[in-house]
Amino acid sequence: MNQSFDQQLLKWYHANAREMPWRATKDPYKIWVSEAMLQQTTVKTVLGYYPAWLKAFPDVHTLARSPVEKVLKAWQGLGYYNRARNFHKAAQIVVGEFDGNLPSDPAELRKLPGFGPYMSASVASIAFDVKIPLVDANVRRVIMRITNVHGPAVSSLDDKILEFLNKVMPTHHCGDFNQALMELGAMVCTSKEPKCNQCPVKIHCKAFEKGCQELIPEPKKVSLNEITAVIALIKKGSKYLIQQRPEKGLLAGMWEFPGGKVEPNDKNLKSALKREILEELGSECLVGDEFCRVRHYYTTNKVHLIGFDVKMMGKSYKIQTHQRWAGLKELQLYPMPSGSAKIVEKLLTAKP
Ligand code: SF4
Repeated sequence: MNQSFDQQLLKWYHANAREMPWRATKDPYKIWVSEAMLQQTTVKTVLGYYPAWLKAFPDVHTLARSPVEKVLKAWQGLGYYNRARNFHKAAQIVVGEFDGNLPSDPAELRKLPGFGPYMSASVASIAFDVKIPLVDANVRRVIMRITNVHGPAVSSLDDKILEFLNKVMPTHHCGDFNQALMELGAMVCTSKEPKCNQCPVKIHCKAFEKGCQELIPEPKKVSLNEITAVIALIKKGSKYLIQQRPEKGLLAGMWEFPGGKVEPNDKNLKSALKREILEELGSECLVGDEFCRVRHYYTTNKVHLIGFDVKMMGKSYKIQTHQRWAGLKELQLYPMPSGSAKIVEKLLTAKP
């Protein structure tokens, strides 16, 4: 079975793989860029970022010597900003310790920031043809069906999945084999209505044999947390007050408008914003009209951001080291989380 499984899969992949810019290169850095971006982000989104990234940071040396703010700005919109920070740190290590050459050994890759089991296996196999299987959501689903494992698709199954993959993986074309499984999951063995009649490995698929492929995996119940946050648009002349988040924690180092979550004890949105401004800026304020509402999602959170025009009271407010006054054009240069970036877009559109 082993030989024919991998041969059938590879034959299908070589005839049907979608063209992607990162599939046309063997440059380890360019493959690394694509794999760093593709984690938790769709191919369609990454296609919009990949060429611009390579233009800004054509090689690992350029990335390593670029300021982190430039890296975060180029990453803006891809989410999970720690990936960008780790990518930058790892580039500096690769330049400092490996003369700019990414190591091919998965164990060495694992020591670099941002390289977990998936990343080290994908980069080692695709860039260096190392025989090491990987599991992502597509691969997990495909192999659960092939081996007829019922239940939700959870990462605790991965050891068993890797055990199966180690048996069927060839010793050459290892990167193609890993990509073929992911491609099969994306294009044929889809979560809903898998196209089994087009599947190159259906003769090996136990779920197909039993006709239960659509019952695997069981859907996971995902509940979204609804969060409401209020944002202060504080102006001085034509400039707006923005502040940088701490260097550690959620959205580390990103820039945003002052404000924060509405708490259960807040009477209404305006009093929530007054409380936030007093806590963050240490000063009373007047909350004026609502300017805009935007919505964005991160991980399992659905966030409603409501922006208000705000005036500081008393003496003119003096900014602290993590704060800046920025004009509309300048605002676009700061790396911001998607919600704040959407507010900047609203400000630009509203500009008289
Ligand atoms: S036969 Fe159907 S369920 Fe089985 S691997 Fe192929 S597409 Fe998936």
